[in-house]
Amino acid sequence: MNTPLIKEIMTLSPEGQTVIIRGWVRTKRDLKNLVFIEVNDGSCFKNIQCTFDLSQLSEQEVIKGLGEVSTGVSVEITGKLIPSPASGQPVEVAATTLQVVGKAPADTYPLQKKRHSLEFLREIGHLRARTNTFGAVARVRSRLAFAIHEFFQHRGFQYVHTPIITASDCEGAGAMFQVTTLDLDSLGKSGKPADYSKDFFGKRSYLTVSGQLEAETYATALSRVYTFGPTFRAENSNTTRHLAEFWMVEPEVAFAHLEDNMELAEAFLKHLFTVALTDCREDLEFFNERIQQGIIETLEGVVKSQFTHMTYTDAVKELEKNADVFEFKPYWGCDLQSEHEKYLTEKVAGGPVIVTDYPKEIKAFYMKLNPDGKTVRAMDVLVPRLGEIIGGSEREARLEVLENRIKDLGMNPDDYWWYLDLRRFGTVPHSGFGLGFERLILYVTGMTNIRDVIPYPRAVGQADF
Ligand code: ATP
Ligand code: MN
Repeated sequence: MNTPLIKEIMTLSPEGQTVIIRGWVRTKRDLKNLVFIEVNDGSCFKNIQCTFDLSQLSEQEVIKGLGEVSTGVSVEITGKLIPSPASGQPVEVAATTLQVVGKAPADTYPLQKKRHSLEFLREIGHLRARTNTFGAVARVRSRLAFAIHEFFQHRGFQYVHTPIITASDCEGAGAMFQVTTLDLDSLGKSGKPADYSKDFFGKRSYLTVSGQLEAETYATALSRVYTFGPTFRAENSNTTRHLAEFWMVEPEVAFAHLEDNMELAEAFLKHLFTVALTDCREDLEFFNERIQQGIIETLEGVVKSQFTHMTYTDAVKELEKNADVFEFKPYWGCDLQSEHEKYLTEKVAGGPVIVTDYPKEIKAFYMKLNPDGKTVRAMDVLVPRLGEIIGGSEREARLEVLENRIKDLGMNPDDYWWYLDLRRFGTVPHSGFGLGFERLILYVTGMTNIRDVIPYPRAVGQADF
């Protein structure tokens, strides 16, 4: 446990001290009496080069071990840390011992030195973290998850664990997965409707599509809270931006209006991009070169930019000016499509845009109604290339208005009794938003398919590993 990782060894000043390298072989090259082995342990993007000088090493063990080394083999190597004559690496290891810990026969190990397609790597999800791309994605994910906690904790937010199983199907954010212990086979054979009073929770229950409603109950007690956890949506949409299981970050703030919410969202994204640019530099340089050219510049641009604010009504006017370019013709009342969102950020604003005040018909019931009676205090944060990255709103804090909204939508206020209680007792203006963590990772890495930024993607027809 205490042996330094390659990341730490790379930063040591090379004075011939003995180091131990443990990891997986990426490549092996022979040059006359020299054998070069590049080892990676996932702690950083770079491999460390271990050089075996056969004219110095007579030990049978080493020579035999070298014969077994190929891509994917796990090794433990000791040697002296010396300055590297090769360019692009400050240090290397003049190796003296080699132990092959686990073999990886070249004729059966699926990951070879050549470049593999992302599609192929999805089929070997259990091994893909050993590639440059997926190692880098995993490190960015980890660092940004931590940055999310840092950002909120430094601003007085409390981390609240909202439930994953919920009995309220009223979250209003998309199709839900049902959770049940009823015997579906015999239920099917019986031909009778299910009796949910006999189900595990005594009523129908689901996997959560959002922690927001529960987060609101804590925000109206602890002032500033956030949830960060798994979220499930039975999205049948098979896009490159939707998963059935994803992680969502949801801050909720009491005594906050939509303007405060917009400010928070902008500061939040900028913080996360700054962390990625500084602490994940090597990984981002890789993405910039091999995955999406210009990604570093894009992120730096967003950090320096001021987000454009635009009402939905103005956004639709902008879109209508150029209606011809869209597959889906924009009109007031339509849900903005991703082609519209991209157009607004890339062509109209030339940067991130926060669109506010959407028609109430296309937004959830809990959003604050504007005096016009037609629009609600919703906000979507749109970024170039991706479209929506954050969705949020000021919540309706007035009991009667909220009750009427619920009734108008044909829902039963009794089902929302606890949510309405927040408006009955000590109500306050409050606001919050949701950031899809994988959308963030997509954006920061420049990867194009959301299935490639989560270790084990769950999507329609896909739940492998
Ligand atoms: P979209 O229109 O893109 O489907 P949405 O309007 O359903 O998004 P919200 O309900 O506002 O999204 O959820 C908040 C955030 O969660 C979104 O801005 C997005 O970042 C993320 N998100 C929503 N659905 C998914 C999904 N199926 N997979 C991954 N992330 C998602
Ligand atoms: Mn959706």
